[in-house]
Amino acid sequence: MALPPKLTKEQRDSALAIAAASRKRRAEIKSLLKSEQISIADVLEIGESDSAIAKLRVSELLAALPGWGSVRAMSMIERLEISPTRRVAGLGRAQREKLLAEFRIGAVIQRKYPGSLLVLSGPGGVGKSTVAAALRLRREFWVSISATTRSPRDYEIEGREYFFISDDEFASMVSRGDFLEWAEFAGAKYGTPKSAVIAALESGKNVLLEIDINGAMQVKASGLPSQLIFLAPPSWEDLAARLESRGSDTPERRAHRLEIAQEELARAKEFDVTLVNDRVENVVEGLIALASARSA
Ligand code: 5GP
Repeated sequence: MALPPKLTKEQRDSALAIAAASRKRRAEIKSLLKSEQISIADVLEIGESDSAIAKLRVSELLAALPGWGSVRAMSMIERLEISPTRRVAGLGRAQREKLLAEFRIGAVIQRKYPGSLLVLSGPGGVGKSTVAAALRLRREFWVSISATTRSPRDYEIEGREYFFISDDEFASMVSRGDFLEWAEFAGAKYGTPKSAVIAALESGKNVLLEIDINGAMQVKASGLPSQLIFLAPPSWEDLAARLESRGSDTPERRAHRLEIAQEELARAKEFDVTLVNDRVENVVEGLIALASARSA
């Protein structure tokens, strides 16, 4: 190992003074964080121009959060696959985004934002997408656009009903943690892009997710305050007739959808509210009422 350079007394004193000033600066920032005067996002920004903060370990930074400590900090670091010795300046763009997303979700969980998150689910073919399309025309809601690996139907437009992506793109979004939830349905994958939902909630909008039941349960498990709404058909016959008349699906896919729909109908009890899809306008009004009841 190379020997450390020989320093003069002045050089040693000056190095010690710089180290002491850096320690003081880090303590100052951690104390501001502890007293909630600044956020993690602020510290990351400060670290871009302040070399003392750039060298602060991310684990140490998280441990300084009010009510945290090192065990909780390390568990988040591990979950986000950040090295325990990683310093603020060493965070890659994706890691930085993941870290910030955690805190943005945390703020939404504590209901620091006025918007409501409504999750509309129910059996395939019940008319969820028609309800979602009607809600898109109303200013009371922002309707999330999912990513899917299935092919577009004739009338569907990229970026309106869905973002149509390949299996590989979907897999990389999953591994980057880009989805709030995702699920496989009838041979294709569907996922809700997380950052757009959080941004809409942060801006105070009511958000609607139109997703399958497994996805709805994942949203519930995520801890985000949400209302889970089950859209039920007026009758089983009505639902079966709707699925049968879907000309855009192959016979095998239709049969598969019927089978899934039967299982799905039995899951209404896992939801907070059931709305019957007798008329689209009634469901839209019901959703608007639920959102405003929550945020009032
Ligand atoms: P479709 O292929 O008929 O458009 O949708 C099939 C199913 O996938 C529907 O039940 C729809 O609600 C659901 N779905 C659409 N987007 C998402 C999503 O982002 N996540 C989940 N979990 N399900 C979704």
